Amino acid sequence: MNGFGKLYFRYGTMGSAKTALLLTTAYNFEERGMPYMCMKPSIDDREKENVIQSRIGIKRECSWIFPDTDLYEYCVKIFDEQMKVINWILIDEAQFLSSAQVDQLARLVDDFGTNVICYGLRTDFQSKMFEGSKRLFEVADTIDEIKSTCTCGRKTIINARIDSNGMVVTEGSQVEIGGDDKYIALCRRCWRNRRIESAEQNSLKFE
Ligand SMILES: [Zn+2]
Repeated sequence: MNGFGKLYFRYGTMGSAKTALLLTTAYNFEERGMPYMCMKPSIDDREKENVIQSRIGIKRECSWIFPDTDLYEYCVKIFDEQMKVINWILIDEAQFLSSAQVDQLARLVDDFGTNVICYGLRTDFQSKMFEGSKRLFEVADTIDEIKSTCTCGRKTIINARIDSNGMVVTEGSQVEIGGDDKYIALCRRCWRNRRIESAEQNSLKFE
């Protein structure tokens, strides 16, 4: 009989140290000799290596999750190979999971008592929820916000996309990989002001 596992969702805006928190958690498991594994969707091609790396330099090896990966089957196969249940699974960039993959993780938690901690963004650059995040909000046992602060002092809510001139972009595809050069975490109020500013700049161009 396995213990009761939980499906966790820890969300925050870009730059809220989600990855650093994941890596710190991994480090703590290692210190205590607790088996764990790290995974992340392969959509993030900032690095080609199968590692999770934070801005502060630390990294851990991870397994790729592809769009067609059945996470239930994938993990059960690993449990079989290792002849034990891995009690902790850490997932980075969980917003890029499909809704079905989140359900597969939930089933893994319920059938094996595994704990799955998903780290990710709540919404995209247009303030709309990502597929994986939406499903996590719907079915996760525990939801925590990782807070960070806008330059004005308010809490960041929006992952605004910016162009090379630092102007806020409001059109485009949902997924566009980038770091500080392409995104800025803003509070809702600053996001609105920056959009107005960008619209004014654009209209000046056409006058
Ligand atoms: Zn602000």
